[in-house]
Amino acid sequence: MEKLADSLGRIAPSATVGISQKAREMASKGRDIIALSAGEPDFDTPNHIKDAAIAAIEAGKTKYTNVDGIDELKEAVAVKFRRDNNLEVSARDCFVGAGGKQIIFNALMATLNPGDEVIIPIPYWVSYPDIVRLAGATPVFAQANAETGFKLTPERLERAISKQSKWLILNSPSNPSGATYSAEELRQLGAVLERYPHVHILSDDIYEQLVYTGNDFATIGQVCPALAGRTLTLNGVSKSHSMTGWRVGYCTGPKHILSGMAKLQSQSTTNPCSISQWAAVEALNGSQQFLGYWREVFEQRRDMVVAELNNIKGIECLTPDGAFYVFPSIRRLLDKTSRNGQHIATDEDFVMALLEETGVALVHGSAFGLPGHFRLSYAASNDALEKALVRIGEFCDGLG
Ligand code: GLU
Repeated sequence: MEKLADSLGRIAPSATVGISQKAREMASKGRDIIALSAGEPDFDTPNHIKDAAIAAIEAGKTKYTNVDGIDELKEAVAVKFRRDNNLEVSARDCFVGAGGKQIIFNALMATLNPGDEVIIPIPYWVSYPDIVRLAGATPVFAQANAETGFKLTPERLERAISKQSKWLILNSPSNPSGATYSAEELRQLGAVLERYPHVHILSDDIYEQLVYTGNDFATIGQVCPALAGRTLTLNGVSKSHSMTGWRVGYCTGPKHILSGMAKLQSQSTTNPCSISQWAAVEALNGSQQFLGYWREVFEQRRDMVVAELNNIKGIECLTPDGAFYVFPSIRRLLDKTSRNGQHIATDEDFVMALLEETGVALVHGSAFGLPGHFRLSYAASNDALEKALVRIGEFCDGLG
């Protein structure tokens, strides 16, 4: 078969996954690579969670499960939403999928038709617009650049809304900028959304647990109860419990949307991995003590990375409130030539030349809809970060 589906022509491969894969390939060929491209915590999954998975295997919990998740996990998810987010939900209102990404995929595929629009603030996580396009709908971008602290303002939200708007995707703390909306900022966006009852909200809260000193986490379904009936609140154990490879995401939202998602899931993965689900039950119900330490480590790394990047001539970096990314501007370093003679016209040229010449893997800002930036994940050891920052500094100093 020579021709693939037309829908594939509308999307690009994931840039975050692609660059991380390239970095792995270069490392396997013996190159000294520091990969700061993937968004995954470098901590190991806590032992009590691994033990729960081993116990599940030994107990023979290795068969198909309910399509939308085992009852024990949906119950744990409901308890988590009530405890942490004040969302009045029961297990029947909860849904489990193979990672946050599959939840987003299911939600959008289950609800979108050609002509529908999805409002996505820029900069965005790479996969949002492509999943919308795959579903045959249209992403509508709303600028939320450095001037607004990478946050969507109520005015810009209102300008992006049309009769065709079906969803607004909110992601706080944000991948790639780390921007974190306060409860008051969410309330202001909510006040706009209350006037447009046809717009649903997909709140991607996957970085909820990674919010640093002086900031509190809030989610729109909690601070704007009037919107609860049209909000899908999404989370997962990947970032909170360093379980990226286990693939467990979960959500709560309007019943008819959850049943559409289950119908779709019954025809694709059937159910999320049974063993991972039992591990996730322990992740949500068990001790969360390790999180305080993780947050402390991430915050120290963030401060170190931001300070070092701002010491490099030509780089400007805001201090993000959450997640484990920084998203600095490199606009002043474009249209220069590297020591190895590569012309750096775009942020993608910058990131590719940096990888080739220094072995440091980052992701270009244009993959997140905002050219002239790069995303660096500081979910890496201090040693790796320090080495990478020296290499980035030398590379930038060599641009002329
Ligand atoms: N969410 C992570 C990232 O942005 C994982 C890779 C992906 O699925 O994009 O790097």
